[in-house]
Amino acid sequence: MKTVIYPGSFDPITNGHLSVIKRAAKLFDEVIVVVMINHKKPVGCFSYNERMELIRRCTADMPNVKVDYYDGLLAEYAKIKNATAIVKGLRAVSDFEDEFQQALTNKELNPDVETVFVTAGADYMYLSSSIVKQVCELGGDVSKFVPDEVYEDIVNGIKKKG
Ligand code: ADP
Repeated sequence: MKTVIYPGSFDPITNGHLSVIKRAAKLFDEVIVVVMINHKKPVGCFSYNERMELIRRCTADMPNVKVDYYDGLLAEYAKIKNATAIVKGLRAVSDFEDEFQQALTNKELNPDVETVFVTAGADYMYLSSSIVKQVCELGGDVSKFVPDEVYEDIVNGIKKKG
């Protein structure tokens, strides 16, 4: 059984994230999407529970996708879950340096886990959770950026916070 972990903030999930999840679900037996708790980052727009719930709703039709959260080192989490790999999405060259550094660090901390990169779909190269929040706060239409199932809750959540 090959398990892959997909870590991130997911504040909130976007179509870019979903495209990574879909592709990982085809490549591995099990995908665990894990909302990583980052105490250094300012409090996000959505609570960790809300983020997990949004991810659960748009992956409900994918039986090999699970959702979890973790407060700690990713390399440790990968050990606990006996994961084969960590999957990351690469949007542009700017993502590369940081992701490369993280991948090498995780390899040092847990030599049993590989990091695999999937490129962003051409339609989602520019897309991030921050872009969704910025556009929505200014009254723009984000329906093309986030999964249909959670569109309304995402818009309401961002407006409530703003
Ligand atoms: P962001 O807030 O930038 O969306 P996250 O921490 O939630 O970032 O991202 C988690 C992972 O998903 C990272 O590996 C990131 O590179 C990847 N990712 C984010 N958006 C996209 C996208 N549009 N296409 C592909 N991968 C993405």
